[in-house]
Order: sequence, then C-alpha cells, then structure tokens
Amino acid sequence: MIKDEKNSLLIVDDDSGNIKLLVELFREEYLLYVAKTGKSAIEMAKGIMPDLILLDIILDGSGETGFNGFEVITALREIEATRDIPIVLMSGLDKPEDERRGLEQDVVDYITKPFENSIVKLRINNQIKMINYIRQIEHMGLTDALTGLNNRRSFNKKIDEEWARACREETVMSVIILDVDHFKKYNDTYGHQRGDVVLQVVANALTSTLQRATDFVARWGGEEFIILMPNTNKINAMQIADRIRDKIEQTKIPLPDGTITRITISAGVDSITPTKETPEILLGELISNADRALYTAKEQGRNRVIAF
Ligand code: GH3
Ligand code: MG
Ligand code: MG
Repeated sequence: MIKDEKNSLLIVDDDSGNIKLLVELFREEYLLYVAKTGKSAIEMAKGIMPDLILLDIILDGSGETGFNGFEVITALREIEATRDIPIVLMSGLDKPEDERRGLEQDVVDYITKPFENSIVKLRINNQIKMINYIRQIEHMGLTDALTGLNNRRSFNKKIDEEWARACREETVMSVIILDVDHFKKYNDTYGHQRGDVVLQVVANALTSTLQRATDFVARWGGEEFIILMPNTNKINAMQIADRIRDKIEQTKIPLPDGTITRITISAGVDSITPTKETPEILLGELISNADRALYTAKEQGRNRVIAF
C-alpha cells in the first residue's frame, strides 16, 4: 500500500441490509467494494486485489450454480494472485462447531451475526493494522535502506520470475552489473558518510536513466549495482549502460564545504535468449559473465562499459 492511500475492503454478502450496515460502518476509513454472489466476489477479488475480504458463508445462488463462502475461499486460494488475501468470515451460523469449521478454513477471523457494530469495527481495524505491519516488514526485507533501491534478495526473486517468463516466451534478457571506480579512495579521502552520498547519487542516476517499467534495478552489495532488463538485447543494454556511465561522470557531487567531487563507474553486460530447454544454471552464468565483463572494464582502465 502506498502511504496515504486508503486500505480496501471487499464486502461479500447477499443481504442488502447487511451490506448497508457494513458500508455505513466502514465507508469513512476504507475504500469499499461490494459483491452479492460468490462468483462476482471471485472476479472482483482478482480485479481489485482488496486488502481484506469480509465474506458471508451462505450466499444467494449457492448450491448447484453458485458458490457459498467456503467455495469462494477454495477458489481464491487456487488463484496465485488472490491466494494470500486475508479473509474474515461473517455468518449467521453461530454455533461453536460452525465457528470452528469457519476458522479451520485458513481465515483470519470469524464474526457471528447479528453483531455489535463498534466491536466489528475494532476487529476489522485490528486486522488492517496487522496487514499494514506485515506489508511494511515485507517491504523492508526487499529494500536497501541507504539507497531505497531493491536489495539483492529482491533482485534474486525478480530474476527467477523473469527467467521463467523469458524461457516460456523465448525472449532476450540482459543484465548490467556496475561498480563505483576507486570508491575506497573516495571513502578514505572524504569519509564514509560522503561515500554513502555517492551511493545515493548513483542510485538516483540509475532510476532516472531507466525508462521502462520492466527494468529492475537493485543494490547488489557494497558499491555494486545490478540491472535486469527483460526484452532488451545486448546492444541496447550496452547503450543504456553507457548512458548511465556518462550521466554519473557528468554529475557534480558537492561536499558540505561547497567543493565539487566526481566519480565514475565501470559496467559489465551480458545477455541471453533462453528457451524452454535452457538449464537454470545458465541464469547464474548470465550474472557471472556480466561480472567478468565488469572485471575486464576495470582492467582496461575503468569508466567504461564492456560486454561479455
Ligand atoms: P575499483 O575501482 O577496482 O572498484 O576500486 P574500489 O576502491 O572501488 O574497490 P574496492 O572493492 O577495493 O573498495 C570498495 C569500497 O567500497 C570499500 C568499502 O569500504 C566501500 N563500501 C562498501 N559499501 C559501502 C557503503 O555502504 N558505504 C560506503 N561509504 N562505502 C562502502
Ligand atoms: Mg569499486
Ligand atoms: Mg566492488
């Protein structure tokens, strides 16, 4: 969830009175969506990806043609995109065995109807709080704190997905690895804090140069960055790497006393067009080849881009 954006709830109920009640209760705080049948609930969930689903068990049209609440849960868990959306069951079935059967469905709560408005509100708010905490923690686990870029773990996750796609579609993909030149000397001369600023400058140059939404940039470690470019061949990847190299070379990095410093980077590039038969080991080689090319760039004098 982007900050300041409201969390979204999908209310699934066949009873207009209940819907009205829940809408009244939550309209201020949340973005609300309503579905009256199991089928439309599944379609809506896929389309809007709500943060939480409030799900009635007995739905109109349940049975031969429709879905009841339990069947909606089963269907949502079978779809990759909706698998993890948390669900709160709300039902008039209020015996302990009903409640137990409900909670066994891998839902986050079971609320019996009729309910006390203020308590339902508090319970749902608690769930949303928890959902937002989890998101925040997940985000932190995938982000580099210094630069705000994706971290290495995030990159590894992404490249696995993109590799699978490239194999399926037999499309080209490129990887650029880049490394700050003589960074140890910069740190030694100006201090570690000024070095940190350099890493932020490089991160900005990367994100502002890359234009395609599918390009994926991450901090690979220390002063090394990595870019994954799906559907991009080696020649284009080299051009982009050189644009980045040029941009960083041109960037003036001021010190607190007003003096201007500059840095350069070296980059290595490699590409592959995998097929359905391509062994996974070649994914690792794509990265290590880019790294070898980077090493060559360093050897040849730095501030340059070399393709494997
Ligand atoms: P080369 O041109 O061959 O890449 O030389 P280099 O000095 O850049 O490479 P080297 O690997 O010898 O040094 C990398 C330095 O990067 C050493 C390390 O202290 C510094 N470094 C790594 N991570 C950080 C960081 O988060 N902040 C700062 N300020 N420095 C870092
Ligand atoms: Mg370096
Ligand atoms: Mg290095």
